[in-house]
Amino acid sequence: MKKPQQVVRDGWNLECIFCKEAIRYTYLVNWLLPAPFFYSDKSNDVLLRKSDELVAQKLCENNKPELTELEKLWHVFLESAPPAPNGGHFSFWSNVKCPFCKKEFPYNNGIRDLNVRIYESKIVLIDGAIVVGDDNKETWQIKVNLTH
Ligand SMILES: [Zn+2]
Repeated sequence: MKKPQQVVRDGWNLECIFCKEAIRYTYLVNWLLPAPFFYSDKSNDVLLRKSDELVAQKLCENNKPELTELEKLWHVFLESAPPAPNGGHFSFWSNVKCPFCKKEFPYNNGIRDLNVRIYESKIVLIDGAIVVGDDNKETWQIKVNLTH
């Protein structure tokens, strides 16, 4: 894969709950929900494709689908997911990890709640993570600029 373009965004430091290192992060907000996105199981890369979003929006156009129906669709999206550029595979319950000690932060305090997962509005981007879109032009690497 071609080296992705870098996008600089303002962000903050978060102390790792495990190793106490300072982690640079920022986030994206999904304005239209549900918005399908997935973290990698081995890195902080994020799959965020317009094509998936359009399919999800189409399904939600006329009525609110059952959570289980959306879950099934989310897994269909994952079937066509490329490998994560920084390592691993995109998966349904994966969450961000500390780039220093590699430990994954417990998603939703470790409670696997389908509604919380499907209607998640915040995508956390850890410095250096690659956001994978539908093609190379839609794929970029986050560079976090500390604002303080
Ligand atoms: Zn850590």
